[in-house]
Parts: sequence; C-alpha cells; structure tokens
Amino acid sequence: MEVRESTMKLRLLEGSNDLLVKNLYLSCDPYMRFRMTKPNVPVYVEPFRPGSPITGYGVARVLESGHPNFKKGDLLWGLTGWEEYTLITAPETCFKIEHTDVPLSYYTGLLGMAGMTAYAGFFEVCSPKKGETVFISAASGAVGQLVGQLAKLFGCYVVGSAGSKEKVDLLKNKFGFDDAFNYKEELDLDAALKRCFPEGIDIYFENVGGKMLDAVLLSMKLHGRIAVCGMISQYNLEQPEGIHNLTNFILKRIRMEGFMVSDYYHLYLKFLETVLPQIKEGKIVYVEDTAEGLENAPTALIGLFYGRNVGKQVVVVSRE
Ligand code: NDP
Repeated sequence: MEVRESTMKLRLLEGSNDLLVKNLYLSCDPYMRFRMTKPNVPVYVEPFRPGSPITGYGVARVLESGHPNFKKGDLLWGLTGWEEYTLITAPETCFKIEHTDVPLSYYTGLLGMAGMTAYAGFFEVCSPKKGETVFISAASGAVGQLVGQLAKLFGCYVVGSAGSKEKVDLLKNKFGFDDAFNYKEELDLDAALKRCFPEGIDIYFENVGGKMLDAVLLSMKLHGRIAVCGMISQYNLEQPEGIHNLTNFILKRIRMEGFMVSDYYHLYLKFLETVLPQIKEGKIVYVEDTAEGLENAPTALIGLFYGRNVGKQVVVVSRE
C-alpha cells in the first residue's frame, strides 16, 4: 500500500488537479450491475474494466489535493474506487461534505446519490399533490425509504411493498408508511394493491418493474403518474418480462416518465436545506445495512439482487 500511495503522490506533484483520497465508506448500488454487462451492450455508464478496481459512490478523506476546491483533511462524497486509497482524476464531480453532525455514512445514501434520487424523483417527476395516494416498490431500500417519508411529510397517503416481514415492519413502524405488504407472500399482486388502494393509485414510484408494474397499471387512477426510477427485477434477465396491461395508459391517461438522478444534481443544495433539518429534528430517519471491510463488498453488492440488504447497503472500509 505504501508503494501505491507514494506513486499516487508523485502524480499529484506534477501539477494535476487530482485528489489522493482515503476511502471510508462505499455505496452498493443496483446500477453497478449495468457496468458488468458484456462489451457492445449499450449502457448509460462506462463498463468496469477487468483488472482495475471497480468504481462507485463513496465517502472519502482527502490526503493530498491538486484541486483548488479541496484541501488535505476535507471529506467528500462522489465516485471513487473500491480500494483503500484512490486517485480521483475528476474532482469536479465530487461534493465536499460540509455537515458532519450526521453520520458520515449517510453521504453514501440518504445525503448522497440515493437521497437525491428520492427527492428529485418524487418532487420533480411525480408532480405530487397533497392528499394523493402513492405506491412505492422496493420501499425499504436506499431510495424507497426516503421517498415514502418525503411523501408522508408532504401530506400523501403512502403504501410500500418489500420482500420480507422485517422490511414490512420497518415501513409501517419506523418510516411511518400508512400501509405495506410483502410482495413475496401475495399470491395476487392486483388484489393486494386493490386492498391497499380501494380508490386507486395517483403516483407509482417504480423501483422494480416486471410483474409489479403490470399489476400497478390495473390500479392506477385517471391521470396517474409513474416515475420510473429503476427496474431491478429485470437487471439480471437475458430477456425482460412482457407487460400485458399497457392499454391502461390510454384509458387512464397515465403519464410514465423515466429519470436519471444525474440530471438533478443542480438541486443538491436545495435538497440538503430541505432534508438536513428534518433529519436533525427526527422527522426523517434512515436505516443502513453495514458490511464491515472491503473484503465483504462483493457479497454485499450481490445481496441487493436477492433482497438481503435491510435498508441502504454500505461497506465500511475505514472509520477514520
Ligand atoms: P435498494 O436499497 O432498494 O436495494 C435493492 C432492493 O431491490 C433489494 O433489497 C430488494 O428489496 C429489491 N429487489 C431485488 N431484486 C428484486 C426483484 N427481482 N424483484 C423485486 N424487488 C427486488 O436499492 P436502491 O434503493 O439503491 O435502488 C432502488 C431502485 O432505484 C433500483 O431499481 C435502482 O436501479 C434505482 N435507482 C435509479 C436511479 C436513477 O437515477 N434513476 C438512481 C439510484 C437508484 P426487497 O427485499 O424489497 O425485494
């Protein structure tokens, strides 16, 4: 490690803008699956390069800086490597961490990419109105748990689905959802949704796709909105599942819109101003699932696709 660190410092002395950082917390994110796709398959992010450490979002401490916006000792979150030390060659994509009176790991999720996704997806894409009914799939995860709490604070009726009894209990008893169900135990998703939404769904925050989307279409209200955040149930399939209830789009005038969080980072400061006070007042809570040590990172990442994570999946590389 010493040799690697000194090699990196040498590059910094050559007048680059790079940052040498020590990685503290890493984020496991479903989109990373796209980066493992075969070459020539179109992906929206660069594929991982065999032989190089994989990259992803994380929280790090600056050891050496060639960039005017960062100095030694600063904390940041952004794209870094799955390794102990990383040379960040695009520091302009990183956010300096100014508020350290919350757990630092929150910047991998709640106050990082996942949190921004929840905030932008709900407020910018869903066009919510007070009193509307909101359904969220993968609701106890990194994004979903915040969408639900934002929707409740905004004054909506909120229901979530998740894949275990423990997660359903979290939704109802910790995050304050009005109702929740375990989709793995429901033989008929349409019936489960009709039970939770006798009057129908105004907003569906889509995280999973497949059979859930098909069932949701049957319960959408007139002029309902679907924000397509992700479709994790499809990421490991060779062939995506078919959707059968598409005519509901016409009959119910449903608007469905996909979005990418990267289009909304200009709202980051506004997001922090909204969410930080609510965290400090205990109005927003966040559950993390922590894997200790870089050696456990691959298992933690794979676990997302089996629903093994309870809350935001974080990997601790170092606590200082
Ligand atoms: P989570 O923390 O929710 O972890 C993934 C969860 O997905 C698992 O815990 C599991 O929960 C659920 N899941 C896994 N496989 C399936 C399956 N086959 N069917 C149904 N559910 C499944 O992840 P995130 O909150 O980080 O991400 C949620 C979604 O948001 C993903 O689709 C992701 O790609 C997307 N996303 C999109 C962004 C954008 O810019 N558009 C940015 C960030 C995330 P359970 O036990 O409940 O099944």
